[in-house]
Amino acid sequence: MATEHPDVLIVGGGAVALCTAYYLQQEGIRTLIVERRGVGTGCSYGNGGLIFSGQLLPLMTPERLAGGLFRWLRRGSPFYVRPSPRRLRWLWQAREAARPERLAAIAALRAALLRQSQQLTRTLIAEADLEVELRQRGLFVVYRETPGQAFCERLARAAEAQGVPFQPVAQPSDLVDGLQAAGGLYFEADFHLHPARFVQQLYLRLAERGVRFRPETEVLDWERQGRRIVAVRTGEGRLAAGAFVLAAGAWSGLLARKLGLRLPVEPVKGYSLSSPRPPNAPEIPLLLADAGVTITPLAEDVRVAGGLELVGFDLEAQRVRAALLYDTARAWLPEMPLLPLQHIAWWRGLRPCMPDELPALGRPRAFENLVIATGGGLAGLSLAAVMGYRTARLILGEKPDPELEALRPDRFH
Ligand SMILES: Cc1cc2nc3c(=O)[nH]c(=O)nc-3n(C[C@H](O)[C@H](O)[C@H](O)COP(=O)(O)OP(=O)(O)OC[C@H]3O[C@@H](n4cnc5c(N)ncnc54)[C@H](O)[C@@H]3O)c2cc1C
Repeated sequence: MATEHPDVLIVGGGAVALCTAYYLQQEGIRTLIVERRGVGTGCSYGNGGLIFSGQLLPLMTPERLAGGLFRWLRRGSPFYVRPSPRRLRWLWQAREAARPERLAAIAALRAALLRQSQQLTRTLIAEADLEVELRQRGLFVVYRETPGQAFCERLARAAEAQGVPFQPVAQPSDLVDGLQAAGGLYFEADFHLHPARFVQQLYLRLAERGVRFRPETEVLDWERQGRRIVAVRTGEGRLAAGAFVLAAGAWSGLLARKLGLRLPVEPVKGYSLSSPRPPNAPEIPLLLADAGVTITPLAEDVRVAGGLELVGFDLEAQRVRAALLYDTARAWLPEMPLLPLQHIAWWRGLRPCMPDELPALGRPRAFENLVIATGGGLAGLSLAAVMGYRTARLILGEKPDPELEALRPDRFH
């Protein structure tokens, strides 16, 4: 039985792959996940754990662009780009996607996807009986200075238009003791969880239910016959299947290229720091709009996450970036004690980002039995359940919803 070909082979073992396998398994589809490292150890592991309702705006809002792209070329900036022709093209596409006339359509799609994903995530956690420290505390998006305020105003307009519930808060310290902010928006529908627990427990539950896994197995290439993919080639040999899902996160573009497909999914590096949770840590997670930094109170740790580095697949962790996050958290919550930076565990991950910050989800036209599911970007954990659900429906042969047209993986061709 174990050597039989699976119905579906999923490349990658992150949150999107695991959620896809979950929905396929529910339909009795025999699934194999092939992961080149440990399952759930990619970007889904150490992120902020926030399941957003109101992350409606694309990456390159005018506020992030304030000061011009040159600001992005400075190494001390929280946003950093190591220029290359590919990355500059990507940035240009990202800038085009954030034009005011496109923002409304992107916000509408993101609101719908996030709403559905929040419901699916809750149901999945309950049905699979996962212990993931889920807490319903909302999200407080706060600002101090003009760009952060402008970002919040833009976000408020988008949330209002999309019916995403939020409340403006004029006095942030009323909601979070000691918070040094000038104002903000409270999104009540957001919740948070421990991301590593989510992927690791889902992995175990799926294995118990018969989903098969090949960790430490890198997919190197595809084997095709006409419009069909018949197998993947790995360092451990050839693996055949009836259908394939490419859910390799930030690395998906490299594997798509081997099929002659252009998928502009860019790795956008970010960092997180986890310090033991002090008694006066905020109960409500925070998004510090000026700095693009989140603070999540987990059960045992307080996690500070952020940073946008476009440096390709370079996973080297830069101390200067970790220090920036650390200093930001201390400046906004000066009374919250953190361990000295040298004693803090830090982590970095590569977010899979499309230029318009919408997922790439669908069947490329050139192949009958391939679905691409990546590009969750800054909200990829939040979107994993809906991406997995929609991918499974496509694999099952259901007619795609019209809204999936806007997520076509080849929309930038
Ligand atoms: C600092 C930071 C904070 C974040 N905070 C949040 C947050 O609070 N909320 C939120 O919603 N999102 C957040 N995100 C974004 C989120 O973490 C990602 O978008 C999401 O985890 C991506 O999931 P994935 O399954 O697509 O990719 P991954 O989890 O990266 O999984 C892809 C997997 O594919 C494997 N792979 C790659 N190539 C191959 C190959 N050739 N063969 C086999 N396997 C391969 C990789 O090893 C990896 O395990 C954050 C990200 C960062 C960096």
